[in-house]
Amino acid sequence: MKYEDLGVVPIINACGTVTRLGGAPLHTAALAAYDSAAQHSVAIEELQIAVSQQLSQWLDCEAGLIASGAAAALTLGTAAILAGSDLARMEALPDTTQFPNQILIACDQRSGYDHAVRAAGAKLVAVGMNEVVSGAGVRRVEPWEYAAAITDQTAGILYVQTDCSRPILADVIRVAQEHGLPVLVDAAGEIPPVENLKRLVDSGADLVAFSGGKAMRGPQATGLLLGTRNLVGSALLQMLDMDDHPELWTAPAEFFAADEVGGMPRHGIGRGFKVSKESIMAVMTALEKFLGPQQATLMNVWHEILQRISTALRAAGVTAELIAHENHVPRLHVKVNDDQDAFEVCQCLRSSSPRVFVGHSRLDEGLLVINAMAIRENEIEPLITALISQLS
Ligand SMILES: *Cc1c(COP(=O)(O)O)cnc(C)c1O
Repeated sequence: MKYEDLGVVPIINACGTVTRLGGAPLHTAALAAYDSAAQHSVAIEELQIAVSQQLSQWLDCEAGLIASGAAAALTLGTAAILAGSDLARMEALPDTTQFPNQILIACDQRSGYDHAVRAAGAKLVAVGMNEVVSGAGVRRVEPWEYAAAITDQTAGILYVQTDCSRPILADVIRVAQEHGLPVLVDAAGEIPPVENLKRLVDSGADLVAFSGGKAMRGPQATGLLLGTRNLVGSALLQMLDMDDHPELWTAPAEFFAADEVGGMPRHGIGRGFKVSKESIMAVMTALEKFLGPQQATLMNVWHEILQRISTALRAAGVTAELIAHENHVPRLHVKVNDDQDAFEVCQCLRSSSPRVFVGHSRLDEGLLVINAMAIRENEIEPLITALISQLS
């Protein structure tokens, strides 16, 4: 069956690897791995344990698992922080009335992804002030504000990693470690650069979540949760299908000491975040490629695509500026004409044929943002034609 059979028209995605538009094009090697993995049954627990060992080898983390997205990894990571290896707590989630359930977050790091953490039963406690956005000052959230918010109800800290996040992660980890609290990092979109995978794992954070379906080019519904053995193990137990006899099961020694888990948990809060064996193999293959030597050239490929679009637009009298900073995905800012409304242009591009979706973060400045990560070679010329027809 094809999209057209359902009456759904594929689009040109000039917006990047956003979830709304289906993420990145799957790596061809990942697609082949999906196909081959689909032919056999495997024990998913064994597969996830092997995945953990492989991730540990590649990324120098203690452990890791594949979840159904970075948001799922955040829910699983929170469930692990809240319950640890305590079976009764696993069973209780998302009811957290009987144990510490507060997760601290800088007030300017809150977003719709908060749901992922609250879904496990955590209560978010926002710390600090947002003086920059309120126009009242220059100061950002500061480390002492985290420390001041810690009580006996605090279970951990959620940190959303971007280049602009303040305080920097190292300062937040220092506060957390002084109080014996775990830090869960949302780094869903923080690759490329590929170095961020290891850098964030090495940061001292207890858990880090990445998307598998963004730049990594695995299946859209995959994500990585990397971190300490115990927390990843707890997350895994709360995601796996647990329908087996306790006599036939022992807690995996890769994650837990003997007798550390005092029995067999039932299906946990993360049961809905299961990942198929095919998806697991596909994202592992995509990650292997992502860590490989060709990846370094991808920034150049994206840069060249944008250069080509820019040259064609300028020749047609359209103003376009290539934004390229080292270690950042390059972008092309395309200016709409002074007598045009960028929101209208954006809408027209979405509904014209071929349908084109451009980045919409700077529309209020009259700019269309072009990101090349999800543009295929055969879409470049149609994209140029569509842009020129709307803008000249
Ligand atoms: C994309 C994103 C997520 C969700 O990632 P999925 O893999 O789509 O679940 C979470 N947090 C941030 C900051 C993101 O950009």
